[in-house]
Amino acid sequence: MGHNMNYRELKIYLPGSAKEPVTERLMNIGCLGTIEQKHFIIAYFSEPADTRLIEDELNALGRALIPLGRDVRITVEARVIAGEDWNRTWKAGFKPLDVGERFTVLPPWEEKRPGRMNILIDPGMAFGTGHHETTRSCLALIERYAYLASGTSSFLDLGTGTGLLAIAASRLGYRRIVAVDTDPEAIEAARKNIDLNAPVNMELIEGDLSRSRGTFDLIAANLISGVLISLAPEIAARLNPSGLAILSGILNGQEKEVIAAMVGSGLILRETVLDGKWISLVMSVG
Ligand code: SAH
Repeated sequence: MGHNMNYRELKIYLPGSAKEPVTERLMNIGCLGTIEQKHFIIAYFSEPADTRLIEDELNALGRALIPLGRDVRITVEARVIAGEDWNRTWKAGFKPLDVGERFTVLPPWEEKRPGRMNILIDPGMAFGTGHHETTRSCLALIERYAYLASGTSSFLDLGTGTGLLAIAASRLGYRRIVAVDTDPEAIEAARKNIDLNAPVNMELIEGDLSRSRGTFDLIAANLISGVLISLAPEIAARLNPSGLAILSGILNGQEKEVIAAMVGSGLILRETVLDGKWISLVMSVG
């Protein structure tokens, strides 16, 4: 993030149910990143931001959500922040976060917590800072099934984003860790975080699953339902007979289709975890 640029900060008050679709729309029209708070989200755009376009999008989205029975009143407060203040504002949104029994996810400028497995994540622009329910659920499940980690076992992070889950796996002692992402920006972010955490035995692969080799004892795939469904045969084929697949990023209500696709590929359901409106599944070879 350059220091000579200015940014437009939008504080968008909206009901919780609208946060997800609004964030998604904003990212699609060039938003640099968002920070979620209880009653609002803060979104950043580089200046000059097309505020007219942004407001049109928000209004259209608000109208689209009303028939779904949602109480949508979107209020926007905008201000321009100078590049020098950008880092301070952005950084203030990322505080150390304890996840599960042992993990702490923190940005590199914060102090590590003694006695915890600290994972340094430079938020950058990729998904996976630990602030999202699906990432947290994955991390907690990876910890819960830490018994799978050994000097002979392998871990696949399918859609690694910032690299967070793969780095967590390295802390737990998997022998081989593969992190895959189709998005070059995610790969760039993951590379930075790998440098920060110096995990051992990690392969970072830009592209899809076909670019990696072998099978795995634990697969974490925090994607969206449609992608999970289309990847079901490949995920099943990459799972060791005694291994587990953690499938996340599934909206509550969409899990049946994902389970059906996985069962169709030979997996069975072991566990369902609900966090907010998100579902994570643990599946194994049937
Ligand atoms: N694992 C992180 C990030 C999840 S976001 C976490 O749990 O927080 C999902 C990531 O998957 C994105 O970075 C996206 O680029 C990537 N992705 C989407 N489809 C993919 C595919 N078919 N193969 C590999 N990566 C994919």
